[in-house]
Amino acid sequence: MQSFVSRSVRTTAKVQQTRVAGAAVARWYSSGEEYDLVVIGGGPGGYIGAIKAAQMGMKVACVEGRGRLGGTCLNVGCMPSKALLNSSHLYHQAQHGLASKGIEVGEVKLNLDKMMELKSNTVTTLTGGIEGLFKKNKIEYIKGWGSFQDKNNIKVKTEDGGESTLKAKRVLIATGSEVTPFPGGSIEIDEKTIVSSTGALDIAKVPDKFVVIGGGVIGLELGSVWSRLGAEVTVVEFLPAVGGVGIDGEVAKTFQRILGKQGLKFKMQTKVTGTSPREGGGVVVHMENVKNGKTEELEADNLLVSVGRRPYTEGLGLENIGLTDLDRGKIPVDKYFQTKTEGVYAIGDVIDGPMLAHKAEDEAFICVEGMLGGHPHIDYNCVPSVVYTHPEVAWVGQSEEALKEQGIEYKVGKFPFAANSRAKAMEDTDGFVKVLACKKTDKVLGCHIIGATAGDMIHEAVIAMEYGASAEDMGRVCHAHPTQSEAFREANLMAWTGKALNF
Ligand SMILES: Cc1cc2nc3c(=O)[nH]c(=O)nc-3n(C[C@H](O)[C@H](O)[C@H](O)COP(=O)(O)OP(=O)(O)OC[C@H]3O[C@@H](n4cnc5c(N)ncnc54)[C@H](O)[C@@H]3O)c2cc1C
Repeated sequence: MQSFVSRSVRTTAKVQQTRVAGAAVARWYSSGEEYDLVVIGGGPGGYIGAIKAAQMGMKVACVEGRGRLGGTCLNVGCMPSKALLNSSHLYHQAQHGLASKGIEVGEVKLNLDKMMELKSNTVTTLTGGIEGLFKKNKIEYIKGWGSFQDKNNIKVKTEDGGESTLKAKRVLIATGSEVTPFPGGSIEIDEKTIVSSTGALDIAKVPDKFVVIGGGVIGLELGSVWSRLGAEVTVVEFLPAVGGVGIDGEVAKTFQRILGKQGLKFKMQTKVTGTSPREGGGVVVHMENVKNGKTEELEADNLLVSVGRRPYTEGLGLENIGLTDLDRGKIPVDKYFQTKTEGVYAIGDVIDGPMLAHKAEDEAFICVEGMLGGHPHIDYNCVPSVVYTHPEVAWVGQSEEALKEQGIEYKVGKFPFAANSRAKAMEDTDGFVKVLACKKTDKVLGCHIIGATAGDMIHEAVIAMEYGASAEDMGRVCHAHPTQSEAFREANLMAWTGKALNF
């Protein structure tokens, strides 16, 4: 199957470690060798694609411009945000969640610098780990910005100011996404007072007032972080529901209510129209209610603009390979993730679909298999979404609203964590598991969980859906006691028989 993969002796490109102004810089000199695959972008899509290709016997180079592997996810996304979510949750628990468990602590103090240090160390360790994996798999890591000269030649402006050209049989574009600016450009992000998600991971002092534009996943996660650390947080959302695309309506309402109990304030169906500087520092946020046109202002020490992300293809030279016909910035691909230019593939945030690290990874894996004769298959309906607040929110498949819209008859099985023994023992009973199954066939069509460990629990539903399981199938699977996963079984029992056992 891999007969067309170059098996030439790996006279590797010469990588010479030089020291410039005290910093180690990998200097690459073109050896004129041809790579089986050059990956542009070292995020979760790119680095997984590179590793998979190397494991399948390809000679691979990965070009990454930011100076560190791991992309948005490891550097300014999933991982630093989760480090802060975890630390801020513990801080909040130490203040408010221990006394009822019989644990008395003295005054709990915040050391924000230390918290940020842990976050940075997490990033450094993880990104370094990928460099290690590259070495292990003999992948050439080229630090620089890549662009197409033509479909087989990638020009790289290297980190040390040099330039070289990589010859490639195939190229995988994995250049990801960037923060979407506020529409119309009327709010300028300075990453100090007005921050994007990147700046919101690095605020030097807990703001008294923190306003978030956008009640989607990133806005709620970072809003939760700063709320737990002591800020008064207000989320301004244009839509009537929080949580972003695909969230079930009932879950979204419960989620907003729980976050409200935790202290977050919400201005729903409200449009931010602009900002002005506040006297003495900070910002005034101008808003308009979309239902009645009433205007309002909010003061903030920091404002997070979190209105989405957009595909990133700047400077890539797509015009040099005939790829000018983008779909709202996204690179169109076929089922092999091949662009209309033969031998050039694209995966991850830069193509259509949910902008999620695990979606990028899955696409990379099967795209590489497809290059070597495999038949890529991905069911986007089975890609889970998770919001890592507390409680967590996770879902996969169809929401009630989506099923209604498609005219599909369904049954609901719902089980509250208040009736789950483990959740009770942990004093963490907010939320429920909701299973949606086909009324005729009992097949699981969707699962929506709001609960302390929803992000881990959701994978049972993902497996059920990937293998076409019914609610009965899942209701008959033995679940260890006492676990929160028992709530998933009970919700399936409820969908299948109309009755749960412990509720
Ligand atoms: C705050 C935040 C939290 C998030 N949390 C989660 C989460 O919990 N779970 C989840 O699944 N997703 C999360 N995401 C989304 C996730 O980070 C992205 O979906 C994921 O990183 C996309 O992977 P990718 O490989 O497609 O692109 P990216 O991770 O964006 O990587 C692309 C890389 O390509 C490089 N690059 C671009 N152009 C060039 C070029 N011409 N030459 C060389 N290099 C180039 C960039 O420097 C970048 O490093 C979060 C995002 C943010 C911002």
